[in-house]
Amino acid sequence: MPRPILATIHIESMQHNLALAKARSPGAKAWGVLKANGYGHGLERAMRGFADADGLALIEVDNAVKLREMGWKKPILLLEGFFGPADLHTMAGYDLQAAVHCNAQLEWLEAVQAQLSARGIRFDLHLKMNTGMNRLGFMPEAYAAAHARLSAISCVNSITLMTHFANADDVDHPLLPITEQVRRFEVGAAGLPGPRSLSNSAGVLLHHDHLKNDWVRPGIMLYGGTPGGATAEEFGLQPTMTLTSEIIGVQDIAAGEVVGYGSRFQAEVPMRLGVVACGYADGYPRHAPLGTPIVVDGVRTRLIGRVSMDMLTVDLTPVPQAHIGSKVVLWGQGMPIDEVATAAGTIGYELMCALAQRVPVVEG
Ligand SMILES: *Cc1c(COP(=O)(O)O)cnc(C)c1O
Repeated sequence: MPRPILATIHIESMQHNLALAKARSPGAKAWGVLKANGYGHGLERAMRGFADADGLALIEVDNAVKLREMGWKKPILLLEGFFGPADLHTMAGYDLQAAVHCNAQLEWLEAVQAQLSARGIRFDLHLKMNTGMNRLGFMPEAYAAAHARLSAISCVNSITLMTHFANADDVDHPLLPITEQVRRFEVGAAGLPGPRSLSNSAGVLLHHDHLKNDWVRPGIMLYGGTPGGATAEEFGLQPTMTLTSEIIGVQDIAAGEVVGYGSRFQAEVPMRLGVVACGYADGYPRHAPLGTPIVVDGVRTRLIGRVSMDMLTVDLTPVPQAHIGSKVVLWGQGMPIDEVATAAGTIGYELMCALAQRVPVVEG
């Protein structure tokens, strides 16, 4: 019998969330972002879940190739661009679009342009502006020059104007509000032609009324996670990954007994504990503290003691009927992943992406 842990992926909920992203982005086309193995859901499953997207966007060149091999015909965008000249040949071979964010990438393009344009290759590229995130992109004052240089390259077909928001979920951010990033974008892009691509999930959900996008790039919302600003449920999003397991052991302990590695929890009264077949080697966050919510037999209870590699312990006080084999929901349907993430000091993105290889995955 397999160990009872299981991740169930809800393809219909992915479709629902994508439809919601599109409804929130009237007039814009939508990339379905499926980097990091479809945020942990599996590349092929995400491709099916987002079949109605106008294109798919990711970071990994090898997975972009896999999407083509699996039959994806619509556009594919490499969000971090190409990592060296060799990637340009892969892009040519598999009809991939890419972000261009630095002079080194312009040099690589210039070096191969004659060879590629002779073969009839012309790329659709996304020129990235650094509007304050200070990760990738050209400064606003260098943007027009980069645009001119890119436009002059013979193997370039189109240039989309692109930036990325640092705080789209926090309207009143004291240091870098979204309005400031938009202002910098407008300054840097003034007078330049081409479609615009600005919004991630937070932009789509919280700023669709004032941002002008020709393409949006939703990620986390498609997987039923909130980017912040409200809960996933309040946004109308549905969970796409439910991580379940079972109670595999029960202990009745006396007042004063301690639980788990480090003996971090001490029972004040006699109590019943359940041991769940799920640990940090399955992707459950090891830093989840006492009180992290968890559902046993349909009842919400709390994590106690330290999460270990293969197991964690829960308080069965509110679930006296629980027994070996009782169903446990770690996150997903019935237990919002964002609540677990918040308790553990992280975000839903990290939990999904960290789902471990050893956890069997089914669809349902
Ligand atoms: C990951 C990513 C997105 C999607 O972000 P979410 O917050 O998951 O919606 C959009 N654009 C770029 C450039 C990204 O890297």
